[in-house]
Amino acid sequence: MDKIIIRGLTVTACHGVHGYEKITPQKFVFDCDLYKDLSVAGQTDDLNDTVNYSAVCNAIAGLTANNTFNLIEKLAYESAYKILESFPVLKVGVTVCKPEAPVMHSFGTVGVTVEAEWTTCFLSLGSSVGDKKSYLDRAIEKLEKTRGIRVEKVSSHIETEPYGGVAKNRFLNCAVKIKTYLTPRKLLAEINRIEAECERVRQKRWDDRTLDIDIIFYGNEIINDDNLTVPHREYQMRDFVLIPLKEIAPDFVCPLKKCRISEL
Ligand code: ADP
Ligand code: MG
Repeated sequence: MDKIIIRGLTVTACHGVHGYEKITPQKFVFDCDLYKDLSVAGQTDDLNDTVNYSAVCNAIAGLTANNTFNLIEKLAYESAYKILESFPVLKVGVTVCKPEAPVMHSFGTVGVTVEAEWTTCFLSLGSSVGDKKSYLDRAIEKLEKTRGIRVEKVSSHIETEPYGGVAKNRFLNCAVKIKTYLTPRKLLAEINRIEAECERVRQKRWDDRTLDIDIIFYGNEIINDDNLTVPHREYQMRDFVLIPLKEIAPDFVCPLKKCRISEL
């Protein structure tokens, strides 16, 4: 993919685990790769169709000078997130070097490289207790306010029969398309936090609940570990997932089934 590069951006600031590093400025050197399709700018020759690298340098310099972190890992990730949040970039790589780091040997430099990118995900939301519509609305509002998540589309709400033979109430369901730079596990943690903030109590599987949020797809990733299965188990068998999903993602290709959602 096309990219814009920044090399050797040097900012004097106070980051480090030692007390004196927090008050004695030293050099931090950034190399950044900003992934973006540049073909439009290549045609129009218009600054508005690309990313202004000078503005990116200002953003990194401001963040670096106005904060004090222990680790360059934190500085690198904060810089990567800032770039993704502030500029139309799909993916970013940030290297932060610390050539004056307290190392008692002759050395060239030390540093870290991190990457972050926006991934499109689909979530399924359901509620079967209390004011169901307001639980779904609150959940969407909380998703929007979560750092690293952007809500892009919300399906219509549909009323469905309880699933799995445990719950007794009818459910209200919808699907949500988000973009996130959170890892799958971090996204799950944020979803669990939002469920808890909406008075979700975990009792029996499939029981009635104020709010359930499931990750149906995380980009094209296939994940099978103890806490997370993506694509969500048997999502294609469940109308309450599939009907709202078809509305907002008919052309999304399931990485497992290798077919479009509209064909399921
Ligand atoms: P269910 O949604 O099946 O009724 P819960 O909401 O209580 O059940 O979820 C139980 C656990 O399922 C969660 O704690 C989570 O770790 C796990 N889980 C596995 N895969 C997913 C997924 N794709 N989305 C959400 N939770 C998942
Ligand atoms: Mg769930």
